[in-house]
Amino acid sequence: MISVEEALETVLGHFDPLDAERRPILDALGQVLAEDVISSASIPPFDNSAMDGYAVQSGDVAGAGRDKPIELRVIADLAAGRVAGVSVGPGTAVRIMTGAPLPNGADAVVRFEDTDEASAPSTREGGRIGVMVPVVSGENVRYAGEDVRTGELVIPKGATVRPSEIGVLASLGRKDVLVHRRPKVAVLATGDELVEIDEPVSPGKIRNSNSYSVASLVARYGGVPVMLGIARDRIEELTAKLAEGLTTDLVITSGGVSVGDYDMVKNVLKAEGKIDFWQVRMKPGKPLAFGHIRGVPLLGLPGNPVSAMVSFEQFGRPAILKMLGKTKLAKPTVSATLTEDVENYSGRRHYIRAILEKRDGRYYAWTTGEQGSGILTSMAKANGLVVIPEDQKLVKAGTEVMVQMLDWSEEQA
Ligand code: AMP
Ligand code: MG
Repeated sequence: MISVEEALETVLGHFDPLDAERRPILDALGQVLAEDVISSASIPPFDNSAMDGYAVQSGDVAGAGRDKPIELRVIADLAAGRVAGVSVGPGTAVRIMTGAPLPNGADAVVRFEDTDEASAPSTREGGRIGVMVPVVSGENVRYAGEDVRTGELVIPKGATVRPSEIGVLASLGRKDVLVHRRPKVAVLATGDELVEIDEPVSPGKIRNSNSYSVASLVARYGGVPVMLGIARDRIEELTAKLAEGLTTDLVITSGGVSVGDYDMVKNVLKAEGKIDFWQVRMKPGKPLAFGHIRGVPLLGLPGNPVSAMVSFEQFGRPAILKMLGKTKLAKPTVSATLTEDVENYSGRRHYIRAILEKRDGRYYAWTTGEQGSGILTSMAKANGLVVIPEDQKLVKAGTEVMVQMLDWSEEQA
């Protein structure tokens, strides 16, 4: 048996970031930049007011106070989107709105709240305004290039495109961006006992759930699943189905990699490509296959529904992330206090389906109950996997354990 780390290292050694594609910025959400984004302009493009108020010469109002306002003559009104036709000279002010360009001559903006705006007879063009607090030069001014300067590296290659990156790209006038393309991942279930979800379940048959859980995991982590359906445990059918998957970046099968009489996937994979079969020191999910068929990588997950999902999280997820161009491949993990005893006499790394809750700033974890690898509802109840090391046999309640987060979302914060 090989360790989870050894298996992972071999798997990841066969993947690289996929080629780059140019996509409209909104469609690139979640993908990884394949280019450095260099600014072609300054943001903001001009000095402008950060407040609704009066553009002034700060020197004019240095002595202002609540009880001794300094009166200035208002020479213009300036809305955002307009440019002042006048310059601010000594003793004058321009009534200015947030985002409007700072008029020539002015070096600061006094907020409405710091003037007698509310009580003055007319503060519009031609009126007068009393300034009640001093401002220093630059106060309430946003300078050109303060956010981004022309020629600056704004977002580096390798960054994930999030809503904030999309906003920055839009502010730079970028309609599209170069990102690593999403991997296409073929998903094939194997087994004579399987029927599709809309077919009647006759004696001895069960519904194919793996294709659906695995395909949705593929999509969740940024891949594009391609459903290949079910292959019977027959050499010809498996070979034909696998051939359909060879236009993808990764083929994922479930079932047929164990030691049973009808675990044909092994035979087909051996005949069709270069495949290694492993016993990975983990529970659930001991049998695993990995290799290539005509150059296309193949990950053979175990058939048991929980094993398939847990193995996918350990090996399929990082492979997809690497193809997407991501570099942080480890599953988000937190430390939590166990609230019940757990046992692990398997000698393998035990991934225990668990419920994680945050109370008073600390995480607590307990099991979802029965841990059989066929009990898929235990995955549905869980939001994390408690990871018990290979050599730990009994872990007592109260122990701090590592938990892989299955859902690392705002719901768990
Ligand atoms: P296998 O590894 O092919 O021996 O399958 C192990 C167990 O997982 C068996 O009980 C199968 O019936 C079950 N199984 C295999 N494939 C699927 C699937 N696609 N959906 C649900 N259960 C499956
Ligand atoms: Mg089978």
